[in-house]
Amino acid sequence: MAPSLVFRELRKLVDRKAIRKIWVARGYMRGSDAPAIALFCKGCGSVVEIACDETFDALDRLAAHQGFSVSRVILELPGVCWACGAHGDLSRDAVDD
Ligand SMILES: [Zn+2]
Repeated sequence: MAPSLVFRELRKLVDRKAIRKIWVARGYMRGSDAPAIALFCKGCGSVVEIACDETFDALDRLAAHQGFSVSRVILELPGVCWACGAHGDLSRDAVDD
């Protein structure tokens, strides 16, 4: 399958909210477009989503205070998961870009 067809199909799945794009990981994961914080492990590539309405409400309020209307929130935090950290071979400096 040509790469352009793959990306077109991925776009359709994103539009249907069957998957979401993880920008920092340059990949996709199953899920909707509901606001969530994505914790991306740069060691093993795992992604964990955390729903946190308070965080997104606070971001909306901060933006509104600046007269800014947020249309889309992307909150992705790269780092190291517990399992990779437990191996001790992935320090913060080793996984920072
Ligand atoms: Zn990991």
